[in-house]
Amino acid sequence: MQNEKYVVNGYNLEHIRNLNEERVIQAMRALLHKVQGFDGCQLCTEDVYALSAKQLPPQYVQVGSIVLKKNVTDEDVYAIVKKSAQQVVDRPNHD
Ligand SMILES: [Zn+2]
Repeated sequence: MQNEKYVVNGYNLEHIRNLNEERVIQAMRALLHKVQGFDGCQLCTEDVYALSAKQLPPQYVQVGSIVLKKNVTDEDVYAIVKKSAQQVVDRPNHD
């Protein structure tokens, strides 16, 4: 069964992904446990993701395709995720 939400002209576009979203997730997995004071709750985790993802230009690719040129470096992604996590720690959206 396919997800109808992504179907256009009978073609399922679900496998076209924003590469930079995946890179944010990878950076979050690597970094979040090292951020002092990060509580690890769902809301804060989602906030770090949204804050980080919106600072990166979208880069849409087909799953499995080889990306020759990334428009931002891994260092950029890591720096953005670190800064976003710090912002969430300083000002969480909950008490
Ligand atoms: Zn939290």
